[in-house]
Amino acid sequence: MPTDRSSSFSSLELHPDVLRNLASLGFEKMTPIQAHGLAPVLRGQDVIAQAKTGSGKTAVFGLGLLSKLDPTNFEVQSLVLCPTRELADQVAEEIRRLARTMNNVKVLTVCGGTPFRIQAGSLEHGAHIVVGTPGRIEDHLRKGTLKLHNLGTLVLDEADRMLDMGFQETLEIIIGQLPKKRQTLLFSATYPQQIQLIATRVMQDPVTVRVDATHDNETIRQHFYKVRDERQRREALRLLLLKHRPESALVFCSTKRETEEIAAELREHGFSAIALHGDLEQRDRDQTLVRFSNRSVSVLVATDVAARGLDIDALDAVINYHIARDVEVHLHRIGRTGRAGSKGTAYSLISDKEGYKVALLEDYLDHAIVTEALPPETLLREAAGRPKMATIVIDGGKKQKIRPGDILGALTGENGIAGTQVGKINVFDMRSFVAVQADAAKSALAKLTAGKLKGRSFRSRLISSHAVSKRRKRVGGS
Ligand code: AMP
Repeated sequence: MPTDRSSSFSSLELHPDVLRNLASLGFEKMTPIQAHGLAPVLRGQDVIAQAKTGSGKTAVFGLGLLSKLDPTNFEVQSLVLCPTRELADQVAEEIRRLARTMNNVKVLTVCGGTPFRIQAGSLEHGAHIVVGTPGRIEDHLRKGTLKLHNLGTLVLDEADRMLDMGFQETLEIIIGQLPKKRQTLLFSATYPQQIQLIATRVMQDPVTVRVDATHDNETIRQHFYKVRDERQRREALRLLLLKHRPESALVFCSTKRETEEIAAELREHGFSAIALHGDLEQRDRDQTLVRFSNRSVSVLVATDVAARGLDIDALDAVINYHIARDVEVHLHRIGRTGRAGSKGTAYSLISDKEGYKVALLEDYLDHAIVTEALPPETLLREAAGRPKMATIVIDGGKKQKIRPGDILGALTGENGIAGTQVGKINVFDMRSFVAVQADAAKSALAKLTAGKLKGRSFRSRLISSHAVSKRRKRVGGS
């Protein structure tokens, strides 16, 4: 815990005017991310900060880039990249508030949805700080209307959201054009592997600052339930889903047939569930994974083989419909649960016949496995929850030169939905998927259908949360 002294802004090397301004904004004490992150940022180091909106992170990079700003030079000195226009507007506003005792600091937002030529005109007049969304920033770089050769600081804000929205390639193109000698600050609520990869490529000796608890050093909670027979096993699965209502749960079965049967039965009972196994064609596998990872399907029922290589960083629960044959597979399965800031939970259903697998696990854990009582059967009368998100599929992709930014722009322009209602965007060769909040799905589809992407109309449709593909490969693996 920081002491009073170290949590006061005056412990930092900030200009007295800036300190006075912070006091006038009501910033009395530093928030934890500020107490840990501001010092290395002000020293000019690269910093990775795991922090959410509301943590005070904007001031961490805002004070950092303002502290080294030269107001007499009207070339762009700092670039802040954000996933959505709403966030960019918010960040620009906060930077302006932080800069209000400094004369003449020009902060410009450069996002999709505003006429390009007007932005180009504003950029021509010069700006110290540009806050924008990746797609539009790349457009300006390509057309030469934005020049970043004098850039001193790059900020990637909500980096995980930007990757979720499919901006990785765009980010790499932008970063490739920046001066090598610069400070790079990366802010992200979660820290999946993709972020680590980007960080190692674009940052230099970054200092990592984490204030939220993560599941790294915490154990996964495991619960075991005894089932009498297959009928009770099926009920037990529904009971666990109804009790815990996970947004994303991965259910492991032993055979592909079982995955289909279980997923179909869950759907019959109103759950949003889909099977993943080796008999799916690549196209259907892609679609299944997209829908699960973008949270428009809540339950993925899979075999071990099919789930291999699944890269999902926020799973609320893993359910072992059948406990795995060996300990290593079991540990691998349950190791997938958890999201930043919370522990993962694993539920395993075991019958007497599976006693030998339990004994192996007890040996490994070095303690007896105690089974718990299942949730009460009266829960079976309750309705299953619906996913928060819905997926729209667009019949156009990379081959048609569609980029994530185009889709975001088409959804959020005039009469569109808010950027905050848009989830993951996945662009494949010939198709693209975009997740939108379920209650905004109809308006989102109407906007896409009425509008154009890259000057062309593309067919778009909503994937019903009960849609399952019936296509199968003729010869199947597992
Ligand atoms: P952020 O996480 O950057 O979006 O900030 C969330 C809100 O907290 C913003 O309205 C900030 O103005 C405010 N804020 C940031 N740092 C402090 C602080 N040290 N004391 C009080 N409010 C703060």
